[in-house]
Amino acid sequence: MKKIAILCSGGDVSGMNPALKRFVEYSLEKNLIPYFIYDGYEGLIDNKIEKVSYKNVSGIITKGGTIIGSARSLRFKKKKFRKIAKENLEKLGINSLVILGGDGSFRGVEKFYKEHNIKFSAIPATIDNDINQTDYALGVDTALNIIKDSIDSLRDTANSSKRAFVIETMGRNCGYLAIISYLTSGAELCLIPEIEYNLKDYEKKFQQELTDGRRYFIAIVSEGIKEKTENIAKWFEQKIGIETRITVLGHIQRGGNPTIYDRVMAYKFVTYAIDALLKKNHHSVVCYNKKGFCYKTITEVVSSPKKLDEELLKLL
Ligand code: ADP
Repeated sequence: MKKIAILCSGGDVSGMNPALKRFVEYSLEKNLIPYFIYDGYEGLIDNKIEKVSYKNVSGIITKGGTIIGSARSLRFKKKKFRKIAKENLEKLGINSLVILGGDGSFRGVEKFYKEHNIKFSAIPATIDNDINQTDYALGVDTALNIIKDSIDSLRDTANSSKRAFVIETMGRNCGYLAIISYLTSGAELCLIPEIEYNLKDYEKKFQQELTDGRRYFIAIVSEGIKEKTENIAKWFEQKIGIETRITVLGHIQRGGNPTIYDRVMAYKFVTYAIDALLKKNHHSVVCYNKKGFCYKTITEVVSSPKKLDEELLKLL
């Protein structure tokens, strides 16, 4: 029987555990022997590789994060450590990997494939949803739901105490989390890196609304905008004239019990990933777009930054 291993790389996301469960169950269904690699490429170098079965994944579907750990690995960027990683896999007779991660992780596994012919299937997993060629990356829906709950709570206090709240979301250079959160929470302001803005454009409107009795403002700002979140808060205080608080949501966005959507997507992504390897599609990324699931090459995925959907931008 052929052996197959899975690892999580880069930042963890909610949905990785359902993916691990499906990985084990679907591998066994297809007569493959499943292995876990702990702590990403670090564990691959340090030989933290374990044969697994159903008992390793029972009860994990409800848990956020990943039971096998995820990590960044500076060593894996070096050829000599990738060689050690390859020798570890070789000793166990494993030559197929499923990788959950972002585009950095994909670049790493592509090198590994080219140097050592270790086959792989990559699954986009990042709450930032910043991976080109795929509309969806695992973990995004859970992150959005956590942001939604946080904004709903902040709105309660903002309304009670007549304040503005500037809420910073993650996303690196991608404003996806911010724009969806803005649209679905009825916030007053959304600032994202993809769109030029001038705060002056909002001043008259916001001042008038305050005069007319508005009790609070909610502003959603993406971490990648050109200025510090503190400056947006200062602007509310100085130009609009309302007491303001900042909430940086930070890593809370990564955790939490995976939503139904992320559980279903985890199952589908993993099924497509294993099917690719079985069909001798040996170095692809499973992507999901308007036409459904498809396979893209690493080059297609990493060669240009993701552009936000035009339809979405029109709603801003
Ligand atoms: P993400 O996968 O979320 O984009 P990173 O960019 O931090 O996260 O990449 C995760 C890991 O992938 C890195 O710590 C490193 O081990 C590996 N990696 C990233 N880029 C390369 C590269 N150019 N060559 C080899 N390995 C890489």
